[in-house]
Amino acid sequence: MKTAIYPGSFDPITNGHLDLIERASRIFDHLIITILHNHRKNPLFSLEERITMIEKAVSHLNNVEVQSYSGLLVDCAKENNCHIIVRGLRAVTDFEYEIQMSQTNRLLAPDLDTVFVTTDMKYGYLSSSTVREVAYFHGDLTPFVPAFVAEELEKKYSAAAPPAAKQKFGTAVLQADK
Ligand code: ADP
Repeated sequence: MKTAIYPGSFDPITNGHLDLIERASRIFDHLIITILHNHRKNPLFSLEERITMIEKAVSHLNNVEVQSYSGLLVDCAKENNCHIIVRGLRAVTDFEYEIQMSQTNRLLAPDLDTVFVTTDMKYGYLSSSTVREVAYFHGDLTPFVPAFVAEELEKKYSAAAPPAAKQKFGTAVLQADK
């Protein structure tokens, strides 16, 4: 049985992640989505919130499992008896970071290979950070994330200052300058 791990932050899961998960779940017998605890990032959603959202988004896929891991990806793979990592490639900008990570992981665990799945063209621009930015300014999230993820983002940012207030401030400054 071919098992693969798809690691990431998923803060939050987007339609781009989901497209990749659906395609990888057809390639491998068993796909483990692992939310890696990244000590350098300060996530918007807690681990529990991210797990709940991913589980809901992949509930139609019966060979996909969701877990979290705090530590090195190579140790996570070893614990799951897994020798394949799946990562997504959107643009050249992803390449440098991804190749560095896959080569480091191969040095740490020579029996671990990284398989890259290229993004569907319609999601090539899409990242969790873009989605958080649109949500912060209360933009339409429909093209980017499942509806229930959009609701969670709206809840997170419901207290954020509406952009209109900032524009008014800008206008006031301009008028004062006259
Ligand atoms: P990380 O912090 O590990 O980069 P992300 O959640 O941002 O975590 O991404 C996890 C993986 O999903 C990465 O391999 C990334 O390239 C891939 N990915 C993210 N967005 C997309 C997308 N729109 N299309 C394809 N792959 C994507």
